[in-house]
Amino acid sequence: MLESVRIRLTLWYAGVLALVLVVLAFATYFILRESTVKRADSYLAELADGFLTTLHAEMKDESGPDELKRGALQAITEHRFRDYFYAVLDPTGAVVVSSRDLPSVTPTASPEESSRILDSDFLSKLVQSSSRSDHVFQNLKGERGGYRGYVRPFTENGQTYTLVILQSLHPQKEMYEELAQTFSLVIPIAVLLASVGGYFLARKSLAPVVAMSTQAGHIGAATLHERLPVQNEKDELGHLARSFNQLLDRLDQSFERQRRFMADASHELRTPVAILRGEAEVALSRPDRAPEEYRESLAVLRAESQRLTHIVEDLFTLARADAGQYPLSPHDFYLDELVADCTHTTRTLALAKRITLNCDAAQELPMHADEALLRRMILNLLDNAIKYTPEGGSVSVTCRLEGGEYALSIADTGPGIPAELQPRIFERFFRADKARSRAENDGGGAGLGLSIARWIAEAHHGRLELVRSDATGSTFAAYLPAKSAVSTVAVR
Ligand code: ADP
Repeated sequence: MLESVRIRLTLWYAGVLALVLVVLAFATYFILRESTVKRADSYLAELADGFLTTLHAEMKDESGPDELKRGALQAITEHRFRDYFYAVLDPTGAVVVSSRDLPSVTPTASPEESSRILDSDFLSKLVQSSSRSDHVFQNLKGERGGYRGYVRPFTENGQTYTLVILQSLHPQKEMYEELAQTFSLVIPIAVLLASVGGYFLARKSLAPVVAMSTQAGHIGAATLHERLPVQNEKDELGHLARSFNQLLDRLDQSFERQRRFMADASHELRTPVAILRGEAEVALSRPDRAPEEYRESLAVLRAESQRLTHIVEDLFTLARADAGQYPLSPHDFYLDELVADCTHTTRTLALAKRITLNCDAAQELPMHADEALLRRMILNLLDNAIKYTPEGGSVSVTCRLEGGEYALSIADTGPGIPAELQPRIFERFFRADKARSRAENDGGGAGLGLSIARWIAEAHHGRLELVRSDATGSTFAAYLPAKSAVSTVAVR
């Protein structure tokens, strides 16, 4: 049961609410108690003032040995209230007069209790303890909540007497009990109601999560186009659903890319395999062939298998790059030397087409990178430039430091790439003119060269761009960080 977020939320909510209410109840209880005591004490003091004023007034009218007793009795009679007891003690501590001396005392206390609390011993002990500890107000034990005692010495006829007023705390006790009862009834009901409300609220708030998880449970590889319902775009769950949908978008695109990649790859592989099989079948169809014919067939087989090897290698490189598993082996070398070396390597290809090949890499460009991969990138670009430039054209390679990065550009005087196709040339298996490129090339381009070249530049935290392409030729430029800090595994 505790596995349910709804139940957990409700329990937390109810627990916190109960705690708050209990703390609030205790605080209310103590604050109320304090203020009641304060009010009662000030009332006791006022009562004592009134009592003594009446006593003085009565004493003026009285004379004789019992004048104080008579005056005090009169004052008690005038200030007699329910729950209050009076006693006047002489300097020796003996009770001169008390509420007991009146025919009917307050009904709050039983006769035995009245005798106990208005007894000389009890009262003189109270007076003594108040004079010792300077506590004019004291709480006294007794039946039904006990008493609040107030001690006030006063002088009459040159003698110091003591007035003691006792207030029964029974009404306060009753009030506190009622308050505690109310709290003990109201708090559980409030917590119960809040829990039920909280549960329904949690259920309602989490309903979109339930809907999302049900929908997410249905989404598989075949239904990757389906999306989670977004009920409120602006709340947290809406954000969650949107993020999840964006994740599905990315997965869907990635799946789609993989599917296309597989389809294109098998399509590209099918042609050389078909040529190989066809050529082999033709060679074997007649037993009596001239050795030249066999040599011709074998030459075709070799060319096609070379092309096949090339495509398979490129596919393997891209597959590993996609999986982030292509290990880079960076080391120190000079980029200008590498560029010069690559230009030298392709010189024969250029010569065969009477293409002028220029290399401007005079500046020393130290580099820390994967040399084999960068060589592959430069050769891909040079191969393309020579491949797509007509006989008698020219290809120029320049390499220099430009604003903190190395700029390597390869410009040719080829026919250029149609403007509408330029954004797509870095796509895998894309060939601007399939018929021409297949017919013209001798190594067999599958449209992967530029994708690989771009990936190599990016794996070195650089970029590869088509800077210019029109009827007068094309220029590709690779920009690489001068202090190339590459990780050992290239992640796409
Ligand atoms: P391919 O193996 O076909 O050369 P690439 O990925 O290297 O594949 O190039 C993709 C396409 O971009 C080529 O088919 C070609 O149409 C175009 N392209 C690349 N480089 C050049 C260039 N220097 N001049 C003209 N077109 C080019």
